[in-house]
Amino acid sequence: MRDGNRIKAKGYKAQPSNHMTSANDYKQLLQRLRAGLPQTQAKSDWFEVPKAELKILGRKTSLENFGDICELFQRKPQQLYVYLTKKLGTAGNLEDHKLIFNSVVSQTQIDSALETYYQDYVKCPVCGRPDTTLVKKGRVTYIKCMACGAESPVKSELR
Ligand SMILES: [Zn+2]
Repeated sequence: MRDGNRIKAKGYKAQPSNHMTSANDYKQLLQRLRAGLPQTQAKSDWFEVPKAELKILGRKTSLENFGDICELFQRKPQQLYVYLTKKLGTAGNLEDHKLIFNSVVSQTQIDSALETYYQDYVKCPVCGRPDTTLVKKGRVTYIKCMACGAESPVKSELR
């Protein structure tokens, strides 16, 4: 009985007394390391939304680099086609890698629609990278990020 008590007391004394100090040192080291690293946020700047290449065909407008834009955004032509025609309020047709709008559309209109699409449907809101796919769950569309794994519901969905 007396022996058991003595062992317990010994065990208690054996705990390291400098535990707090080394944890603080580690925290300070981490802070110093973080301060020296470049801002990770700046990485989103390397992706540039492409400018639309337009050709006016009488009363129609051809988006010449539609195929390239789909590839860059990693979106199916159908997805971007539906978005652009709804956003610009005009009908259109897909003709080998081009989108032909049935009206005259300005450069500014298409460029701003592409920028909005990128911000709302392509860019990961968590890490800012463009390597994403769209996943539909019920009535909600999510942006699934290949870089960080986040799934974020799209901000404003056109129906
Ligand atoms: Zn991400």
